[in-house]
Amino acid sequence: MGVDDSYQTRFSPRHLLGIEGLSPDQITVFLNKSENYVEQNRRVDKATQLLHGRTIINLFYEDSTRTLTSFELAGKRLGGDLINMNVDTSSVKKGETLIDTAMTLNAMHPDILVVRHPHAGAAKLLSEKVNCAVINGGDGNHEHPTQALLDALTIRRRLGGLSGLTVAICGDILHSRVAKSNIHLLLTMGARVRVIAPKTLIPPAAERLGVEVFHCMEDGLKDCDIVMMLRLQRERMTRNFFPSIREYFRYFGLDYNKLSHAKPDALIMHPGPMNRGVEIDTEVADDVGRSVIREQVEMGVAVRMACLDLLTINLDSGERRA
Ligand code: ASP
Repeated sequence: MGVDDSYQTRFSPRHLLGIEGLSPDQITVFLNKSENYVEQNRRVDKATQLLHGRTIINLFYEDSTRTLTSFELAGKRLGGDLINMNVDTSSVKKGETLIDTAMTLNAMHPDILVVRHPHAGAAKLLSEKVNCAVINGGDGNHEHPTQALLDALTIRRRLGGLSGLTVAICGDILHSRVAKSNIHLLLTMGARVRVIAPKTLIPPAAERLGVEVFHCMEDGLKDCDIVMMLRLQRERMTRNFFPSIREYFRYFGLDYNKLSHAKPDALIMHPGPMNRGVEIDTEVADDVGRSVIREQVEMGVAVRMACLDLLTINLDSGERRA
């Protein structure tokens, strides 16, 4: 086993359930590994056999475009056998519980289970029941670790690092797992984080996370390096959190006017799916000079390849060559 192998083995977690609790070294191992896969994905022949003989199951209880597709591509490009469980046509529809479904899948000896679920804590619960590695593909409003990693990779490639940057995360912080994972990652890597939202869409005691809270876009965006916009997660809203979409866009939608308060070369990010004219103006979203939204999607495949790679290293107790 080479030096790099043992380093990766030491810093690769057994599961990837969240960013909270990961060390800067662990995050760096994920990002460095992803970097290799960016190059591989740009080649004509993108396939390797690293995960030959491995089985990966995507178990998604919530809709997904980017995360599901990129995990599927990631598993296939690494030569693994990948199955997408369609919850809508499975026994989940017959009332089977999450745990029973997971135990059923576990009996088929998968190596990795990628889980997306509307309830916070679902991925952790599964990880305590199954033998395989579990990757959290988004659990309620709790965490979405691979999104934060792909966001970090995008920023690092553009700006050379994360430490010392000022990042504004804007919009529905309360219901967003993307915001939570990004806050943990960015603070761990030495960035400053501001959250900007109406009072109703900020979690209670947000400051305790170590972020600065703003309720005005113009103030919060001042001199930021990164402007990260979030969708209003209406599927998680139990009441009215703002008077109207029109008013929301007027005060919190990103347009060139508000953007002018950030640094002149500040990058615009969005995890998708975007709601144009709600949290972001369409011209800003498509600004090829400033918006890195498409790049985030590209980085998503590389990051998920790195996650599958690193999590299977530990299944082998570090015996597999990287
Ligand atoms: N795709 C991201 C998520 O699954 C963000 C969003 O849905 O708005 O959390």
